[in-house]
Amino acid sequence: MDKIKMILEKMTLEEKIRLCSGADFWHTEAMEQYGIPSFSMADGPHGLRVQKKEADHMGVNRSEEATCFPAACAGASSWDPKLLKKIGRAIGEEALYYGVDVVLGPGVCMKRNPLCGRNFEYFSEDPFLAGEMAAAWIQGVQEQGVGTSLKHYAGNNQEEARMNSDSLIDERALREIYLPAFEKAVREGKPDTVMCSYNKVNGVFSSDNQKLLTDILRREWGFDGLVVTDWGAVNDRVKAFEAGCDLEMPDSRKMFDDEVKAAVENGMLPESAVDACAGRIIRLALKSEKTRKEHGSNAPFDREGHHKLAVRAAAESAVLLKNDGNILPLAKGRKVALCGQMAENMRYQGTGSSHIIPTKLTNLKAEMEKLDAGITYYPAYGMDGEENPEELRKAIEGAGKADTVVIAAGLPDSYESEGFDRKHMRMPKGQCELIEKLAEVNANIVVVLMGGSPMELPWLDKAKAVLNLYLGGQGAGEAGAELLYGLRNPGGKLAETWPVSYQDCPSSDIFGVNPRQAEYAESIYTGYRYYDKASMPVRFPFGYGLSYTAFACSDMKISEEYCDMTAAAAQVSVSCKVKNTGTVAGAEVVQLYVGEEEQQIFRAEKELKGFCKVYLEPGEEQEVRLVLDRRAFAHYDVERSSWEVRSGVYLIRMGASSRDLRLEKKIQVQGTVELLPYTELPSWYRKPQGKPSVEAFEKVYGTKILPFQPEKPGAYTLLNTFQELKENPIAAQILDGIKAGMLQAYDNDETDPEFLFTFHVVCNTPLIRLIQQGGGETPLALMQAAVGAANNDEAAIRQLEGMMGQQENG
Ligand code: BGC
Repeated sequence: MDKIKMILEKMTLEEKIRLCSGADFWHTEAMEQYGIPSFSMADGPHGLRVQKKEADHMGVNRSEEATCFPAACAGASSWDPKLLKKIGRAIGEEALYYGVDVVLGPGVCMKRNPLCGRNFEYFSEDPFLAGEMAAAWIQGVQEQGVGTSLKHYAGNNQEEARMNSDSLIDERALREIYLPAFEKAVREGKPDTVMCSYNKVNGVFSSDNQKLLTDILRREWGFDGLVVTDWGAVNDRVKAFEAGCDLEMPDSRKMFDDEVKAAVENGMLPESAVDACAGRIIRLALKSEKTRKEHGSNAPFDREGHHKLAVRAAAESAVLLKNDGNILPLAKGRKVALCGQMAENMRYQGTGSSHIIPTKLTNLKAEMEKLDAGITYYPAYGMDGEENPEELRKAIEGAGKADTVVIAAGLPDSYESEGFDRKHMRMPKGQCELIEKLAEVNANIVVVLMGGSPMELPWLDKAKAVLNLYLGGQGAGEAGAELLYGLRNPGGKLAETWPVSYQDCPSSDIFGVNPRQAEYAESIYTGYRYYDKASMPVRFPFGYGLSYTAFACSDMKISEEYCDMTAAAAQVSVSCKVKNTGTVAGAEVVQLYVGEEEQQIFRAEKELKGFCKVYLEPGEEQEVRLVLDRRAFAHYDVERSSWEVRSGVYLIRMGASSRDLRLEKKIQVQGTVELLPYTELPSWYRKPQGKPSVEAFEKVYGTKILPFQPEKPGAYTLLNTFQELKENPIAAQILDGIKAGMLQAYDNDETDPEFLFTFHVVCNTPLIRLIQQGGGETPLALMQAAVGAANNDEAAIRQLEGMMGQQENG
């Protein structure tokens, strides 16, 4: 009998249930009597957030210093899985140093809409790219023996109402867009854990979702690690056990244990479900103990080495979006007016649970000054990008006298964060005005952008060059300066489309309109799949990015012109040559797309199915070889519930971006089906024009979608939030009490951004989760009474008054 089975046999039911929820904010239970050690978790993903003292899950309390690598939005733009693996290794080393057993990352949710406040933490709009980057990162971390947690599984593509929203996703989009990055990361990266999301998918909370957690994750993809909840994502622990949700985090003071025990005793929940979950926790606990023993603890990590890696990563993740007349790189010794206080107060990471304390930090201004003495700096606008007439005046004067003007601009912290979505896609008015005004006095305008998501760029014609650093981590200052002066060559490519304006996005009419019920009406047409199929112009296409050198791709070859894809192991190999035809060393990302020659209804024109980043000296040429497997040609057949390949002619295209594909070959494919199974399909899904309607989407979704009805008094439950209950005066009074308590930590400053962020989260968290997350501070009885009172239940009102009276007296 194996060790875990033996341990389980000795444990009582209560003990097994107890093991399945956290001991505190970041640790699991230890049960020494059975030799079960505890293991610890800490946030990632772009560096470690280890809290040794006061813990929270929103990045509020201070954490230990760790290297801040580029956020996923930037890292993905490197299109370099090897780099991501190196970053993973470095984070793994830091985790060993701090005694962290599992790093909570990476995040592979799809960028469905540019306004999602947490897009900066996710890789891409494309599942293939996101899956490759995530798998590499996971492998890097786990090579150190440290675990990872792939998150947030699944359908978590908005922040507003993220705790109780319902993502209505049709099966085809689920399988082809929203799940494959998880699938690739699970199959190729083999993460120790997967974190289930807060939201519902098609009416079922992810933590209770048997289809997601067991049928797809374990049975189809072969995942054998453990599923941990997002922090406080349990709604019904009995259902969660049944679904295969192993570990509840953080500690909820065992609030569900009695209910689970009763369910086992009365036959509602098989004990084997608890055993399976407990067994997986024991396995990871033992593995973590082994790692700790093997590596010893506190072996210092190479701070300087990791910082250098962070600088390199920031440089390779930056995307040169425009460079008219080769105004970049800047020549030294010319007069540069550096404008915009973001040059000094750079945005280099996002807000929320991934926010970390860097080991070292400089900024663009300081680093540019090190490289060139001819720089004059003008803050030019306020901290939030707002207009500042006096500073603007000084900047205009300085820009008029300069040879070149470099403007730092982008999204301030208050614009994007975990916990809420962006309200629009615009940059701050003060920054746009600055760019326009400076362009009137100087034609040599270079804009350096920072931010976690695409922005509208109404001033683009006025700038000769645009360098996008995204959120480049602690090395962004050095990397930015070195890129501007040509000490490094930009080689990043966009991992997401930049639309001209927000209105161009297929989901712009639906996203956030009713956050509790999110209809994914655009289905499979997200990102470039939509813009291509709808023949829409975009600002910058997926896969796009410039360099200081030039590349030529040639000599495309394909191993077969006919391929029988009925065989599961069928493969086609594709190659081309890529040459650096310019005068400086640089990197090109060769991209490979597959699509049917005859455009099919309800199918993307083409999809990314392979890529390779090549570093080349001037004049150097290399051959790139990529392999296409059966899945590269397949669609998900909803009628058969399987991946099928349609017979026909496919175009295999290679090139430098999704809209710059100069090489093309055809292949005749023998597939498993002749037709896509759609006869009566609304026209939008044949050739998208304008926006999809919910009525049309119902045909694809398969059932009628009822308009969302917010709960009313009489129907409130612990799954509602204070935001929803606050019409009720007593609930409002409790919320005021919580607010007053929270404000004390912020010197009673209601405008403090951290306060605004955490209070927003508290208002929008279902009460049951507040209890879980708040440990003993938000007792179950008080929340139950609050719900009762909001339902106008007299007894609950009296009980609540009594409780509040006691609190005041106490
Ligand atoms: C976030 C997770 C994070 C967890 C722990 C949650 O609010 O959604 O991404 O890992 O907190 O901090």
